[in-house]
Amino acid sequence: TFDFDFKFQQGFQGRYTFPTGLFINGEFVDSVDKETIDVVNPATGAVIATVSAGNEKDVDIAVQAATKAYKSSWGLKVSGLERGKLLFKLADLIERDVEEISCIEVLNVGKPYLATRHRETIGASNYIRYFAGLAGKLHGKTVEIDESIMAYTRYEPLGVVGAIIPWNFPLFLLVWKLAPALAAGNAIIIKPSEITPLTTLRLCKLFNEAGFPPGVVNVITGTGQAAGAAITKHMGIAKVSFTGSTAAGRHVMSSASSSNLKSVSLELGGKSPSLVFDDADLEQAVRWTAAGIFTNAGQMCYGGSRIYVQEGIYDKFLESFLAFVQKSKVGDPWDSSTTYGPQVSQAQMDRVLDYIDIGKKEGAVLARGGFRVGDLGYYIEPTVFTEVKQDMRIMKEEIFGPVVALAKFKNEEDVLEMANGTMYGLAAAVFTKDVTRAIKMSNELEAGTVWVNMTLRLQPSMPFGGYKESGIGHDLGEEALRSYYNLKSVHINL
Ligand code: NAD
Repeated sequence: TFDFDFKFQQGFQGRYTFPTGLFINGEFVDSVDKETIDVVNPATGAVIATVSAGNEKDVDIAVQAATKAYKSSWGLKVSGLERGKLLFKLADLIERDVEEISCIEVLNVGKPYLATRHRETIGASNYIRYFAGLAGKLHGKTVEIDESIMAYTRYEPLGVVGAIIPWNFPLFLLVWKLAPALAAGNAIIIKPSEITPLTTLRLCKLFNEAGFPPGVVNVITGTGQAAGAAITKHMGIAKVSFTGSTAAGRHVMSSASSSNLKSVSLELGGKSPSLVFDDADLEQAVRWTAAGIFTNAGQMCYGGSRIYVQEGIYDKFLESFLAFVQKSKVGDPWDSSTTYGPQVSQAQMDRVLDYIDIGKKEGAVLARGGFRVGDLGYYIEPTVFTEVKQDMRIMKEEIFGPVVALAKFKNEEDVLEMANGTMYGLAAAVFTKDVTRAIKMSNELEAGTVWVNMTLRLQPSMPFGGYKESGIGHDLGEEALRSYYNLKSVHINL
């Protein structure tokens, strides 16, 4: 059981209690082997809950329950309209419990409360509503062949799908997979990150309250190596939708291919560039590029961790950028003036500090930050490196923390080569007032998402996915919904 009685300085208080077993067939149960994992509050380092460490045996039980539910009371047995209604109900229930859910997310991930409440919890409800509205609205087509043959296509749910979620946006990224999977009529096995399972567990009672038949939604907490790997190789799972690191994504794909060739969608890492041209609106470019890297303590797959600035504006940009970052406040997630909170774990903080050392050793100039803040919790000061060369590790590798690498460029060709010069291709941003240049750059950038004169903004209706080693397939948009279906072609001899 998660049982937390809390009172913080900013007037936040409450007592939140909910079960923390595995959620299978609409009920909380113990894992077969009764192993557990401690869950930590990264703002303090304190253990706040203990959850089940599920494994292969538990995943198998969940898949059996999901298969039974899919065949008896879900899938094509329930109309799209009905599935949509349940999803709308779930969205309303999340909004009803917005305060509790947001507080739990803050306790577990260390995110600032206000942003979590508005962007992530309310955001999650709205993203669910997008897919709720689309449920049952993807139709096949009839195809004219000739007098003697009629043909048509139809979309059919896949059956049981798996969703493996990272720790940086535990609730928000969960609904990116949950909502289209259910809208299409699949049953689902969810594996949250072992570091941040709490909001997913809190949602379980809402799945029941919304009216999803038992077994349609199941949650197996546990590590990637045990529970995650069991999902990727289970013969009864038709698709695995994964968000996480590129390294783990490789395992997911090879395990899927060596088991039942289940389809995979992989949303992986990034090293996204922001290109600031001489003619950019300086204030706008500074504000968005800073938000693009420091939001969520830099723990964003699409974080703008490389900033390329054209020669003519470079000095002014750097001065304004450093002054802007100087005003950011790293600290207490409950304080409304906080820009960002701690890194999610000790291991993650250590990893980021290691990269800062690497940057210094490689000869980049540390223009500000570069150190841990305090000794309680896992806070890191916003860190800016300048004069970063293309071949330095801090310019090529995903750091996943509040660390940004700046470099100068001369012209469009020059910056395109630098921006496209990594194995990643998740997102990119262009800052310019020249519309032609903005479109040309957007076309040439090797990235699944391009922002012009902004960063970070996403829409449930816009597909999100990576080029190159940032992933395969898409979350969000109609494209994501389609990926949760089989497409059947029917030929009829008249
Ligand atoms: P991670 O890859 O360590 O873990 C992600 C999830 O996969 C966790 O639930 C983990 O338990 C599970 N997992 C780990 N190894 C596995 C395996 N062999 N088989 C099956 N499951 C396994 O990533 P993380 O540290 O939780 O998250 C950070 C990473 O996620 C970053 O690289 C970031 O860029 C990426 N990310 C990508 C997106 C995107 O949409 N492209 C979004 C958020 C995060």
